[in-house]
Amino acid sequence: MTAQIIDGKKIASEIRADLAKKVEQLPGELMPVLAVVLVGDNEASRIYVRNKQKAAAEVGIGCEVLEMNEGIGENALLATIEELNENPHVSGIIVQLPLPEHINPLKILSAIRPEKDVDGFNPYNAGLLACKEPETVVSATPKGILKLLQSTGIDLCGKHAVIIGRSNIVGRPTAMVLLNHDCTVSVTHSKTVDLPSIVRQADIVVAACGCPNLVKKDWLKEGAVVIDVGINRVEGKLCGDVDFEDAKEKASFITPVPGGVGPMTVAMLLENTYEAALKQQNSHGHHCHCGHCHHS
Ligand code: NDP
Repeated sequence: MTAQIIDGKKIASEIRADLAKKVEQLPGELMPVLAVVLVGDNEASRIYVRNKQKAAAEVGIGCEVLEMNEGIGENALLATIEELNENPHVSGIIVQLPLPEHINPLKILSAIRPEKDVDGFNPYNAGLLACKEPETVVSATPKGILKLLQSTGIDLCGKHAVIIGRSNIVGRPTAMVLLNHDCTVSVTHSKTVDLPSIVRQADIVVAACGCPNLVKKDWLKEGAVVIDVGINRVEGKLCGDVDFEDAKEKASFITPVPGGVGPMTVAMLLENTYEAALKQQNSHGHHCHCGHCHHS
């Protein structure tokens, strides 16, 4: 069997096109604006922020990047977040991770007002997701993973999903999203004993551990759906956490790297920003244009 490729690049570009139409229909004063806080000079972070800026421009969402010095103190950073919280023109706020060592990310992420937390990393939103609250802002990568899985047409109900990685930004929220969609979820990590034998039980594998080409064909059950979240640079070339050429011989569906989860993450961030803008305008008494709300 050779797997069908799940074309994240194509699906993401369709989502952006759809979003661009919706944004265009908004009156000018409701234009969504994403504020991106970038601390320090991390090369990979710069590339990610540039991609987000480019994608935002394409769909007509404003994107303001606030660059902070590597040495900025926690309090100064908190003050910046507070200003953005109070700024009525800002619909969504994200802090590009990782932050420098001397800054506690949880403290900073907790300061983002939940309605503007379009990455869904504020523990309040992460907690609502864990409680299966439908109105929660779901962070972009897990949301993108869900859309990619849904694009295959498989029924998620009752499927065994094995997630490799338990980080706050990928592994854990992905586990919650799939649990909320009736998968049976196993979350594995660096202390897991005999990882291959657990992955072999999976109908769905989500690899998010940052280990280049870790998952091999003989780790997979025949016909497994494989979502590769990893972004690793090996000898100047990007690769995922799955050995793509090997695994595609046994999987039914597989995402490539690049062109799989990455573009979906950006598209979902923009979708979250658009939705945040609509909700905030609503709560300020403006009329919503989402097509779902009713006004008297
Ligand atoms: P982290 O380093 O925060 O977490 C990695 C997780 O993988 C940890 O839970 C760790 O276990 C686990 N792990 C590490 N090595 C192994 C191993 N050999 N076997 C099993 N589990 C292991 O990474 P992130 O979650 O932030 O990111 C994961 C990958 O996804 C990275 O390559 C990153 O670049 C990529 N990424 C891609 C995104 C996209 O949009 N495509 C978005 C975000 C990240 P333990 O907890 O025990 O340490």
